[in-house]
Amino acid sequence: MSVRSTRGILDRLKAGVVLGAEGYVFELERRGYIKAGPYVPEVVLDFPDALKGLHREFLHAGADVMIALTYYAHRDKLKTVGREGDLERMNRQAVRIANEVAHEGEALVAGNICNTWAYDPKRKDETSRTVRAMYTEQVGWAVEEGIDFVIAETNDYLGEALIGLEVIKEYGLPAMVTLATTHADATWDGYDFAEACKILADHGADVVGLNCDRGPATMLPVIERVRKAVSGYIAAQPVPYRTSESMLTFESLKDSRGERVFPLGLEPFLHTRFEMADFARRAKALGVNYIGICCGGAPHYVRAMAEALGRTVPASRYSPAIELHPVLGEHVEEKEKAFLSDWKG
Ligand SMILES: [Zn+2]
Repeated sequence: MSVRSTRGILDRLKAGVVLGAEGYVFELERRGYIKAGPYVPEVVLDFPDALKGLHREFLHAGADVMIALTYYAHRDKLKTVGREGDLERMNRQAVRIANEVAHEGEALVAGNICNTWAYDPKRKDETSRTVRAMYTEQVGWAVEEGIDFVIAETNDYLGEALIGLEVIKEYGLPAMVTLATTHADATWDGYDFAEACKILADHGADVVGLNCDRGPATMLPVIERVRKAVSGYIAAQPVPYRTSESMLTFESLKDSRGERVFPLGLEPFLHTRFEMADFARRAKALGVNYIGICCGGAPHYVRAMAEALGRTVPASRYSPAIELHPVLGEHVEEKEKAFLSDWKG
């Protein structure tokens, strides 16, 4: 077991905001390395350089944590694409790749588990055993490959989140446990989100909060309630999409014809980098300790969020300098001035 404890996640959270970056599955699907639908991270074994490249881009953009791409790399999901035999190899390789890139900077490495789709509160005893077995093997492999902490995320059920938390704690690691927020106010097993976060914190989760599903506009009001309920560290990792009071989650977004756009036609709803930077500032002001981004996330958002938090990151070397633009800049040549009047339409 090789747990690295020097300046681990808890020390970093104590020192200030930690910046996370997720959305690996969505981004690698857009790039042609993961199949939409099953969303199994086959890229880990099939195109490791593509995964390494995205890790590097997030690191360059200022992410403090490299999250091993083991999201949906669990037994049930691999069965659906006929790759159950690759389960251990896929999990171990994902953690190795995260470590390789993390060591190119000063990032931490997080193991990752998520909702399994196997948990059923109506058959709690039986399904809990199945979920526990899946988490135990995934976290076990990650610990052997070397991780700093584990993120258990997109938990629809508090019951399933608690199993993930127990498994992480059995390995003696810091645990960040975040909830999915597809219902308006409560988990699928009926716990108000703020109450569920408090229960997780009371059971020993080091960081609790929300990730995925909601954009900043509909996640911030919930995270504000979580902040009031929980005295420890909290996390918020929204999707960069314009969710609203009438469409709380990106799964529920509909276009002007009333058609669902999730998961492949979401682009018209994307936030700008400036809006995600604004989210980072607002989350910090609310007292969120771990600020990040989920599905739809990309390096330009992460850099904008890092800079909004007052940081200069490696990619800041190439941050915009619109004052140098030949048409929009400060020094526009006489012959280019006509372009601007043309652009005004
Ligand atoms: Zn997500």
